[in-house]
Order: sequence, then structure tokens, then C-alpha cells
Amino acid sequence: MPGTELFGSEERKEINDVLETGMLFRYNHDQQRNGIWKAREFEAEVRQLTGAKYVHAVCNGTAAIATALAASGIGAGDEVIVPPFTFIASVEAVLFLGAIPIFAEIDETLCLSAEGIEKAITPKTKGVCLVHMCGGMADMDAIMKVVNDYNLVLVEDAGQAFAASYKGTATGLFGTAGSYSFDFFKIATAGEGGIFVTNDEEVYKIADAYADHGHNHEGNNRGMEQHPVLGFNYRISELHAAVGLAQTRKVPQIREANRKHKKMLVDILSQTEGISFARLADPDGDSATFLNLLLPDTDTAKRTVAELNKSGVGGFNYWYTNMYHFVNQWDHLKQMRTAAALPVQKFGSSQDYAAMELPKSQEVVGRLISFGIRCTWTEEEVTALANNIAKCAQAAMMVNA
Ligand SMILES: *Cc1c(COP(=O)(O)O)cnc(C)c1O
Repeated sequence: MPGTELFGSEERKEINDVLETGMLFRYNHDQQRNGIWKAREFEAEVRQLTGAKYVHAVCNGTAAIATALAASGIGAGDEVIVPPFTFIASVEAVLFLGAIPIFAEIDETLCLSAEGIEKAITPKTKGVCLVHMCGGMADMDAIMKVVNDYNLVLVEDAGQAFAASYKGTATGLFGTAGSYSFDFFKIATAGEGGIFVTNDEEVYKIADAYADHGHNHEGNNRGMEQHPVLGFNYRISELHAAVGLAQTRKVPQIREANRKHKKMLVDILSQTEGISFARLADPDGDSATFLNLLLPDTDTAKRTVAELNKSGVGGFNYWYTNMYHFVNQWDHLKQMRTAAALPVQKFGSSQDYAAMELPKSQEVVGRLISFGIRCTWTEEEVTALANNIAKCAQAAMMVNA
């Protein structure tokens, strides 16, 4: 979790600015706030880093996905194609807007594939909630072709891919709207926080109102202005925005260190037979928050994880652990155990969640072993890690021979 590694005087300074005024609310109160607008500054910083035309900060990444879906016009009864490999938040956002998730296959990019999306399309399909996983990016040229051919709405959950890009465009900016997460485990953290992005002014205006009970914030007169749409409370506080602002400024530096460390790891591990890597649709756009190994088969991956655990090397496989990022851990969804009925239970779904089979996704996730990359590692630590991983993988592969 690189952002937290660099937590320091910069974050404290931004927080103190807010504490000195006592104005923790992001709107109005011009006199008391004395020129301190951290949410606005946070948004400006993200705008600069990503190149997004419109940026709106919200209280967490899940709220940012929900806002992106809603502002893109996805709602009750709409089928939305989602990946089976993502943090559950992406699926929750679809479900709790009343839409119907339809799971499609991922590929070695660890993201939905164009082929997977195309096969999952039905007459009810309204859109795709694409998730850029493990610091990398989906294969956007191929995906945009399917999205355009079938006239689908594309929303991108780039919760794990802030600072990643594809052919020069930041993840999150290919579709109608996108989202980033600033929770504690991401490349930059606000403690809790999320970012909504779009290049479409109308979509932005809806999102801005939607995330604050429908207030349109015109005329810096919140509470007394117009209410174009019904909304909800997804506001970020000035304290969280202050942290997110300081952290966003550090992202280029974090990304550079991550990339250097990842290159060292890849250079060493490429020499071990049987180890390959998740496919980066654009290697130059990697945020390099994770090293993502693919072992030859799921049994070898399982044995490698056991060796890694035995040697205390770290690393995790999303299939054999309870990481909650793969559909095999989502029994509540398969059995529709809900606190209260969701629209999906009334509308029905064209996919049987308990019986669906996603062999390609299972094969890829079963072979995957990921390692979080730290930006503060020394070169000695990186080299030692690579050698230890190689040893464990070799021990696991000996059994095959
Ligand atoms: C972290 C994450 C989220 C959720 O973000 P929160 O800020 O924790 O709500 C959503 N999607 C993905 C892919 C994530 O990794």
C-alpha cells in the first residue's frame, strides 16, 4: 500500500490547514474557511494528473462507482456486464442501483476481455462496468470496438488503477464515467475517499448533484439552490480531501519507484522457467502497484503459494484464499442472501449466479499470484524478494518433473 508508506509532514500540513479553520464541510461558509478549499484542490490535482476534464471527489471508491453508473444512466433492471474478478464493490454498486450484474470472462490482462463482453451481451444489456485490476489496464482498443459496435454504456472502475493509463489516456476516461478509490490500501489514500471522473459536462453535472442529495451547487449557495435530480449523500469531508490532496501530489514519485522495483523483479523472475506475468495491454501505462505472476497451472500455483507461506515470502492467490476478490467467495450473491430484497430479485436475471461457469476466469485467477509492490523498498530487498519467489516457484514446479 504505497501511499501510506510516504505519509508525513505534507499530509499533516494539509490537515492542519483545515483544523485551523474548523470548516470540515466542503461547501459554502466562505468567511470561516478563510480561502481553504481542500476538496476543490484535491479535484484540481486529480484533474492535472489524469487529464480528466471533470473530477468530483466523494466519500469512497464504491460511492464513486455508484455515482459513475447513475450519472451514466444505468438504473433499475438494466443489465450490466461485470467481471467475476474484482473487489466486490463493483458488483455491489450495480446491484444497489437496482441494475442486474451479468458476469463475463476475464483474460490474462486480469480484466474483462472484449471477447468475454461480446459473449455476455443480451437484448437487455445496457452497459459494461469494466474494472482495471491489480494496477494494470484492460485491452481498451478491442473493448471500445465492442462497446461501440453494440452501443453500450461504458463505466470504468479504476479503483486499483489510479495512475495507470492505456496509450496515453488515463484509466477511467474511456467510457462515459470512471472512478478511483482512495481507501487505505491504494496507491494514494485519503483514509477513505473516492473520485468520479468524466469528460462529459452534462454527466459531471448530474454526478455533482447526485453525490449531494441533488444539490446543484450553483452560485456557491449550497442548500438554497436547484435540485436537478434525486440524489444521495456521498460527500467527502475536507479532512479526507486534505489527505487525498497531499497523497495525489506524491503519486508520480510513487509510480516511478514502483516501476523501478517491478522491472527489477520481472528481470530476475523472467529467468525462471514456468513463470510468466499477467498481460499488460500497455506496458508503459502500468501503475506497477502489483507484481502479477502467472504459474503454468492452478496446482503449481497452489503449491507455490504453500512454499511462499512456508518461507514467509508473502504473495497471495485470490482463488485459494478468502481474499473476496473472486466470485468463488461470493456465496451471498449466489444464494441471494440479502438484508432486504434487491431489485434483481424482483426483475430476475438472465444469468443463474449459483450455476454460472466461468472457466477462463477461474483458470487465470487460479494461476495468479500477486505481490504488493512497496515504493520504499531498497534494491537489496527487491533482489532478495525476487530470489525467494524464484526458489519457491522452482520448488513447487519440481513436483511436476
Ligand atoms: C478498493 C476498490 C474498490 C472500493 O473502493 P473503496 O474506496 O474501498 O470503497 C472498488 N473497486 C476496486 C477494483 C477496488 O480495488
